[in-house]
Formats: sequence, structure tokens, C-alpha cells
Amino acid sequence: MVKAEGVHKSFGHAHILKGIDLEVAQGEVFCLVGPSGSGKSTFLRCINHLEKISAGRLWVDGHLVGYRQKGDKLYELKEREVAAQRRDIGMVFQRFNLFPHMTALENVMEAPVQVKGETRAVARERALKLLDRVGLGERTGHYPAQLSGGQQQRVAIARALAMEPKLMLFDEPTSALDPELVGEVLDVMRDLAEDGMTMIVVTHEMGFAREVGDSLVFMDDGVVVESGHPREVLTNPQHERTKAFLSKVL
Ligand code: ATP
Ligand code: MG
Repeated sequence: MVKAEGVHKSFGHAHILKGIDLEVAQGEVFCLVGPSGSGKSTFLRCINHLEKISAGRLWVDGHLVGYRQKGDKLYELKEREVAAQRRDIGMVFQRFNLFPHMTALENVMEAPVQVKGETRAVARERALKLLDRVGLGERTGHYPAQLSGGQQQRVAIARALAMEPKLMLFDEPTSALDPELVGEVLDVMRDLAEDGMTMIVVTHEMGFAREVGDSLVFMDDGVVVESGHPREVLTNPQHERTKAFLSKVL
């Protein structure tokens, strides 16, 4: 579903991603961990072309991200084509980024109506189902300010799912939450995983990685240091850098 081959990213002289190779299979829960500044968010942003990679290749669902290949040459996609690629990718951030002036229901309906041109009736029906699925069936008329952080994050997940993505990217979805609210968001993600969604999850929740993850990559300073099954990497890390990091977060 996702393939990275020698992906580099620089911002000016700052070389942030230094040759990332990885593959995420359909239906896989792929956990990405690493210290602050190692390039995790940058890599996620490259996957939906919010950042342009400096070298290498990146594919989502068999399509080159941001480019079309003809022979040996790459041609940049037009903004409209990039937007079409992005539609298949849902993203959930640390901060919930809900529209504050819209109810939970309106937040979830917004993109299908505005971006896909769906009728309000169809979008509303799906949004109600999704809000029910994330446990907010009783709160569809609430505004973000009237919801807890965990509830807002669940609305954000429902909003991403409303576009019926093939891939979900999570960037530390629980790290801005009070500890007692983390579980309810992880439960929704676990449910999504069981339903077969392909997910790339940047997280410090090693319990989630161990129980739900199919693979885990430890990234440091823009390179993949170590990867494998989460249980393997977490209980038997091979590299000093991985050991040092895990001793801090476990
Ligand atoms: P964290 O765990 O703190 O979220 P991260 O692994 O997600 O860290 P990134 O946000 O990807 O790290 O940042 C990696 C490096 O890239 C950092 O040094 C950051 O300052 C730099 N960086 C990220 N975005 C930009 C940008 N738009 N312009 C310049 N530098 C950037
Ligand atoms: Mg980050």
C-alpha cells in the first residue's frame, strides 16, 4: 500500500530524511517511533505530498506520490491531481484541528460535501454512522469546545474516515490528551485496525504498538535504525540507539 525507496528530504541545508526504505502492506498497522526531531512527521507529510521529497520514490496504492513517470522521466502532477491522490489518505494530527464553528456532525460532513460533491443527505447518513462508530452517537450536535480532547480526537478520526480513505496516517494522535482520555482514542484506532484499515501510526504508546501493530520501525536522525515485529523490536532491540530510546519511553 505504501512503498518508500531511498526517500530523502532536505529543508535548505538541513538534511532531515536520509534515505528511507520501507514498505507497508495492505491492512497493516505500521508503527513509527523515534526521538523528537528524527523526521517522523516529515515522513508522514511526504506520504501525502504536503512536503515534496528531495530524492527517492514514494508510492501509495501503486501510484507515485506527486509525480507521473514516463520512461525515465518524472513529471510533477498538477495541484488538482495531487488533491485527488490526497483524497485517499486520511490524516489525524496531535492537535485535532476541528472547525470550531461547526458541530461534530458538520465537521464530519464537510469534506464529502465540499470536496467530493456528495449530497448533504448522503454525507449526513455516513457521518452519523461514523460518529456512532467512534462512540459519539449522542453528541453529534456538540461543538468542539463542548467536547473533551478525547471526544474531539474521535470526531477528527470520523472526519478522516468520511472520505473513505485507503490509508490512514496518525501523527501522535494521543500525545496532546490527558492520560485518562488516551484509551478511548486508542480503542477507536484498534477497532479500525481490526476492520482492516492500513494505518501508519507515529506514537509513543508502546502498549498499542505491541498489541495492535504488525510492524514497528525505529527511526533516528532521518534513517531507519531498526524494524521488525513490534514485540520483537520492543523486547529484543538490536541497536544501542533503539535500546536508549526504549529505555526512556517504556
Ligand atoms: P517530534 O517527535 O518532535 O514530532 P519528528 O520526528 O516528527 O519530531 P519532524 O517534525 O519531522 O520530527 O522534524 C524533523 C526535523 O525537520 C526537525 O529538526 C525540524 O526542525 C525540521 N523541519 C521540519 N519541518 C521543517 C520545515 N518546514 N522547514 C525547516 N525545517 C523543518
Ligand atoms: Mg512529529
